[in-house]
Amino acid sequence: MTTQTTAPAPTGTAERPARPERPVRPPRAARPNGQWKVDGTTPLNHNEEFKQESDPLAVRERIEQVYAREGFDSIPGDDLHGRFRWWGLYTQRKPGIDGGRTATLEPHELEDRYFMLRVRIDGGALTTDQLRVIAGISTEFGRGTADITDRQNIQLHWVEVESVPEIWRRLEAVGLSTTEACGDVPRVILGSPVAGVAKDELIDPTPVIETIQRRYIGDPSLANLPRKFKSAITGHPSLDVVHEINDVAFVPVVHPELGVGYDLWVGGGLSTAPRLAERLGVFVTQEQVPDVWHGVVQIFRDYGYRRLRNKARLKFLLADWGVERFREVLESEYLGHPLPDGPPAPLPDTPGDHVGVHEQKDGRFYVGVAPAVGRVSGEILAKVADLAEEHGSHRVRLTPYQKLLVLDVEAEKVESLVAGLDALGLQARPSLFRRNTIACTGIEFCKLAIVETKATATSAIASLEERLGDLTNLTPITLNVNGCPNSCARIQTADIGLKGQIVMDDDGNQVPGFQVHLGGGLVSADRGDEGGLGRTVRGLKVTADELPDYVERVVRRFDAERTDGESFAH
Ligand code: SF4
Repeated sequence: MTTQTTAPAPTGTAERPARPERPVRPPRAARPNGQWKVDGTTPLNHNEEFKQESDPLAVRERIEQVYAREGFDSIPGDDLHGRFRWWGLYTQRKPGIDGGRTATLEPHELEDRYFMLRVRIDGGALTTDQLRVIAGISTEFGRGTADITDRQNIQLHWVEVESVPEIWRRLEAVGLSTTEACGDVPRVILGSPVAGVAKDELIDPTPVIETIQRRYIGDPSLANLPRKFKSAITGHPSLDVVHEINDVAFVPVVHPELGVGYDLWVGGGLSTAPRLAERLGVFVTQEQVPDVWHGVVQIFRDYGYRRLRNKARLKFLLADWGVERFREVLESEYLGHPLPDGPPAPLPDTPGDHVGVHEQKDGRFYVGVAPAVGRVSGEILAKVADLAEEHGSHRVRLTPYQKLLVLDVEAEKVESLVAGLDALGLQARPSLFRRNTIACTGIEFCKLAIVETKATATSAIASLEERLGDLTNLTPITLNVNGCPNSCARIQTADIGLKGQIVMDDDGNQVPGFQVHLGGGLVSADRGDEGGLGRTVRGLKVTADELPDYVERVVRRFDAERTDGESFAH
């Protein structure tokens, strides 16, 4: 006999007992993401609050009228740590605080009473007069510091708030500014360093960069974006503006019926959740670029996610929407007309750093030189301005690879200029390692840094030049040195990307070092349209002291095993 342990099956005729009624819950509302057009403009975090409380650009008046007169201690927190950025000012790191303490100290404990000041240089284009003014500011107010950044800016350090109004006066007298050099705004527009001069240029982007700059930089309607917004525009076939890691980018293309114009890319960015930009598949004429650029920025302003700052870049919206919806919203809500389909830009077959001597379209030459990891000084910049003028040039350009170009040099003056620049430590024929290494600011001045970068990279370059001088046929290998995971020097796009962190040495001591990413890169001829972000080599960490040993081992192994034409990434 079996014992029935379950209830008898209903017969279908008996009435079921009524179940007690459960309260009906309304469906849970999706958590707002802070998208202005979807969720309204109520601020969802403190950053959003301070941006709405007072126009960040208006802090300039307080700097000029109050803080520059009353000094550092008169600056309240939301201005000091927030709105100052809209004018290119960050407090710099207090000297002597090691990287192991970066995460444990409060931001105010890490900060000094001095500022990093970023001079915005759209397209990296400077006259020698402008260069001389920056050099003078560096010498007089920045203890001689000057770094060429991988976004074509120049950064100075040790600036006191008392000096800022005079610095602005001098910059603006020569047409330069620090407007929106940092902050949740359209940052400096990367532009081809050889715009208007290169022999093989397809289209000169100078007019569109100038138009965007004139119309929209400092426009209050674009001064409260969810986060930073990075732009890049080039007309050069080497695609020399790292367009794949910008929020919006225009690269040159020839349409079979419509002629020369641009291929539009959106949604690239590194740091948290690195992602290469994607093509929208449209063709944009030179005249349309400023409006299309404006449309993309407005999408970001209106639909970008503002709740969490680490999800606030345009790439997250693009990932959720996809390319088709993004294009549809751009065309229907912001432009009011469709854009024609367009072909992709051909893959580049030359490097885009423009180092060396190159003939211009007018028969003169430009000379591209490599300071080690972008580090120069006020003194050097002043000498470059003098030297350029002595050789008949009045124009210089900065590149997204921390390099410097002198334009418009007559053939017979080229070698004299090359020698003069070389004497300043600016090499037109650098070693592969000097040419292909970049480094971020690092612990010397950056409050987020965990390790030192500039000096470490510079001594690694010297050491590698010595150790690997015997490899005469070496393929260029890029080395990007970063002081923390934020990837300002593009960790994931280098052959060897280095992310600063505290690591254990052989004796079990915690020392400055790097996590290694291998095989990154951007779209280039050897890897198809995919591009590629570096793989983290799990568990592979090197101490800063071991860096040259490690790079030497990797390079020698690659050189011994590579097949003809093989690049480091593949
Ligand atoms: Fe600072 Fe990190 Fe950016 Fe380097 S990568 S400049 S250490 S935030």
